[in-house]
Amino acid sequence: MKATAFKRWAARVAQLSRQQREELLAILRPAVDQDRVCSVIDSARPAPERCLYCDAPGLRRHGRHRGLQRYRCRACGKTFTALSGTPLARLRHRAKWLDYLGKMLDSTSVRAAAGAVDVHRNTSFRWRHRFLHLSKHDRPHTLGGIAEADELFLLESQKGSRQLDRPARKRGGVASTRGITKEHDCVLVARDRDGRTFDFVPGRGAVTNAQLHEHLLPVLERDVLLVTDGHAAYRLFAGEAGITHEYVNLRQGERVRGAVHVQNVNGYHRRFRQWLSRFNGVASHYLLNYLGWRWALDGERIGSAECLLRAAIGAFNTKR
Ligand SMILES: [Zn+2]
Repeated sequence: MKATAFKRWAARVAQLSRQQREELLAILRPAVDQDRVCSVIDSARPAPERCLYCDAPGLRRHGRHRGLQRYRCRACGKTFTALSGTPLARLRHRAKWLDYLGKMLDSTSVRAAAGAVDVHRNTSFRWRHRFLHLSKHDRPHTLGGIAEADELFLLESQKGSRQLDRPARKRGGVASTRGITKEHDCVLVARDRDGRTFDFVPGRGAVTNAQLHEHLLPVLERDVLLVTDGHAAYRLFAGEAGITHEYVNLRQGERVRGAVHVQNVNGYHRRFRQWLSRFNGVASHYLLNYLGWRWALDGERIGSAECLLRAAIGAFNTKR
């Protein structure tokens, strides 16, 4: 609409009845909410230089698609936006995303979040995991100085699965035998004294030397001091990898020996467990998503729905 025509149109708003104004607002509000979402997404991503599909250079701006800048490849003729190829590409009801992400910042349950933004609870569940899908990549590069590592065990869960690959547990969260077994998902957390934190799900049961090589080694700086409990796998790993290693002998009641302790990483475990308890058990399949979610909340790394939206399309390193 041209500026003069709009002015004339807007001047007539004064003539609307109270109910008509309410109706107009109900039309405008979702449109404004959707605009906000689109502007967060478009400004989080620099204009692409190459085609998403054929990798050819030479893109043209090609109007807008559902509020987002659209690009067209001169080579293959395909069009795409900043959302194409992301976990959010085909999600609907964009106008509700920021409200929904606000609920995620409050760690609201699937059902309560569904009610609050008025979507079906299956949609709520799908959104949660789409928004979290890339969160596992939002991590520091490495750990340095003194780095603590320790495992946390959660009873493996097939919550939500139609077919179990084992007999159902009679009474929910109780393992059939005592101690750590293949019924437990191992969560390995490593955290340095600057608070930089990594988490991994190496597998089920106790962590092994091979898993430490695979997950931990790539994120440790060469001159790090690794601190763990006395589990033999850590000693073997550190020896083979040539990493300086100290451990506390928890079995003999030793918790702290000067700077040698795993209390920072255990604090992280505690916060994670406490936070996780509100969800009444999470499926093992989604454990990495929950770790990513917790990681984003811990230390207030992510402070707003907009920031969480940027992280959901893989644009990290922005706090507000
Ligand atoms: Zn192309």
